Amino acid sequence: MSVIGEVIAKVKQQDPNEPEFHQAVHEVMETLEPTVKKHPEFVKAGIYERIVEPDRTITFRVPWVDDKGKVKVNRGYRIQFNNAIGPYKGGLRFHPSVNLSIMKFLGFEQTFKNSLTTLPMGGAKGGSDFDPKGKSDDEVMRFCHAFTRELYRHIGPETDVPAGDIGVGGREIGYMFGYYKKIVNEHTGVFTGKGLEYGGSLIRPEATGYGATYFAAEMLATRKTDFKGKAVAISGSGNVAQFAVEKVNQLGGRVITLCDSNATIVDEAGIQGEKCEYVKELKNVRRGRIKEYADKYNTVCYLGDSVWDVIREQGLKVDIAIPCATQNELDGASAEALVKNGCFCVSEGANMPCTPEAVKVFQENNVLFGPGKAANAGGVSVSGLEMSQNSLKLSWSREEVDKMLFNIMKSIHKACLDAGDAYGKKGDYVTGANIAGFLKVARAMLAYGIV
Ligand code: NAP
Repeated sequence: MSVIGEVIAKVKQQDPNEPEFHQAVHEVMETLEPTVKKHPEFVKAGIYERIVEPDRTITFRVPWVDDKGKVKVNRGYRIQFNNAIGPYKGGLRFHPSVNLSIMKFLGFEQTFKNSLTTLPMGGAKGGSDFDPKGKSDDEVMRFCHAFTRELYRHIGPETDVPAGDIGVGGREIGYMFGYYKKIVNEHTGVFTGKGLEYGGSLIRPEATGYGATYFAAEMLATRKTDFKGKAVAISGSGNVAQFAVEKVNQLGGRVITLCDSNATIVDEAGIQGEKCEYVKELKNVRRGRIKEYADKYNTVCYLGDSVWDVIREQGLKVDIAIPCATQNELDGASAEALVKNGCFCVSEGANMPCTPEAVKVFQENNVLFGPGKAANAGGVSVSGLEMSQNSLKLSWSREEVDKMLFNIMKSIHKACLDAGDAYGKKGDYVTGANIAGFLKVARAMLAYGIV
């Protein structure tokens, strides 16, 4: 068996109940096969075995009190996966589905993604099975404070810098940073995604959605085309989706779908202008359901169906897809339907939203396919820029940060193509992203010896 095969087999045997982690390891490791022959020094130093094992896995109890005075207990996680190229960096997710497998898959992916950004950041991920949905602001605050009461001892501006993810936006980061500041008595850049008044960066909220759209535009340019007049399917309606919609509109595309975990809405006229502001207010302020969009604008709403179910069942014509909800939301059958309906470009705004079967369908049909670790790296890139501004004690303008984001996405796109080319996989963004991300981390690990 090859080194790669052995590593995959060992991960599956050692942690049999971690399917998402297996999926991510499998997806990355199998594309690293061409590096084994070119780099015997990596094999000798056990880099492949070491890179799939987190540096540190922290789990902890989070006790808090709800509005009725009842004590609740959730489980907290922080996976510090790899800090070979910089301090640990990666989001926190609050969602009932959170478990060790999902945390490890996300931390593993984050290591390669952060390497691709060109900035010095290691990989980490964390969160809790706490569900912010339906909780009062006071309950969310008490939970965030309780979570930080344990997390604070594991993080620091030069050690580990968490950010947001599903269920963790500006409100939650504010509560966590405020509590950290209080107990550590330091105002440092220990979280990113902070409010502008206390060290946040302009463009951070927009960065992941804008970045995934810039990445798609770069892929489209390789076929001498762009967003103008294209029908675009976007899933989710949270942070990433909202700003992907905004940027697609700016680039002349027409967004026809959005969803949440209860329903999908279809608006063939395009989700634009005042409708975008409505979605932001609905989701970020009123914390309502996407179904209300259909009621307000008299459009179609499919209860219980994902965006990809609706496209498959209704035969909607789509040119470009940007999945921005969650992992494994788009399966092989949905990918086939997308291809049949004309889709030729997919940019993953979410982490691993396409199943391995879906990715195979896209690649076999010559669809431009940008994997999440490259396409959605804009968020962590601007987090890196937020860390730089905090260290410098300076704030850059909106235009400056957006320009840097655009240039980073362009360079990630080029790094993927160049690495694919150099290792015999021309035009394969999945292989290119994995190899380009891997090489920098592997070389740093090699330099340190066996640590
Ligand atoms: P968010 O603001 O919490 O939004 C998530 C959206 O996806 C919500 O509309 C949610 O609906 C929907 N959703 C979640 N699970 C779903 C399911 N099973 N079926 C259908 N819809 C579902 O989170 P986000 O920050 O936008 O993150 C979305 C994805 O992008 C995640 O994969 C995340 O890891 C990735 N990502 C985020 C960032 C970032 O900077 N935020 C950076 C890189 C990657 P409900 O409201 O009903 O839950």
